[in-house]
Amino acid sequence: MKRFRRVAVYCASSSDIDPIYVDAARAFGSLLVERGYGLVFGGGRVGLMGQVADAVISAGGEAIGVIPHKLRDLEVAHQGLSELLVVDSMHARKTVMASMSDAFVALPGGFGTLDEIFEVTTWNQLGYHSKPAGLLNVNGYFDALATFITHAADQGFVRPVHRDLLLVDADPRKLLDRLEVHELPDIKKWIDRP
Ligand code: AMP
Repeated sequence: MKRFRRVAVYCASSSDIDPIYVDAARAFGSLLVERGYGLVFGGGRVGLMGQVADAVISAGGEAIGVIPHKLRDLEVAHQGLSELLVVDSMHARKTVMASMSDAFVALPGGFGTLDEIFEVTTWNQLGYHSKPAGLLNVNGYFDALATFITHAADQGFVRPVHRDLLLVDADPRKLLDRLEVHELPDIKKWIDRP
């Protein structure tokens, strides 16, 4: 079983959502602290991002935000974090977040969330890093995406060995348990050589 130092959480900037998602985000933040894991996130005070960070801070945990100058200047940054790293671009933010974290979890979100979790999954696929990633399937939010990933694999666009790169679980404890024991495929075994 792997022990993580920090987990990156990607999730919605929107607050115009059902309270079920807010409750799940707060519970996930508390669970990270209970397990002794620090939080790395996008640094915003808005939406589910702000909720996860607030829950981590109220439980006495470590919350590190990584935000580009542009978003910080728009005053969406969270003001009460353990640390707020301000970077030059969205690309720098994603690189810093990934390098500081030992595992990745997406909670429900929109394009930004999907972009972030798919990017770290692609990096696993190509061997740029080897860190477990999963989707917390609150309220069945990711059901359609999980079905689509199966479809992509069935059609040959995702290799069979990569089908389960992104773990999906509705139970936050089970998701963290599974991430802690997840063995990622060895890149050298499958990559095509010329
Ligand atoms: P979305 O899922 O489209 O709401 O985007 C959320 C993700 O994109 C988060 O994980 C953040 O890293 C980033 N993001 C999008 N909007 C903001 C914002 N207003 N403040 C900070 N980060 C944001």
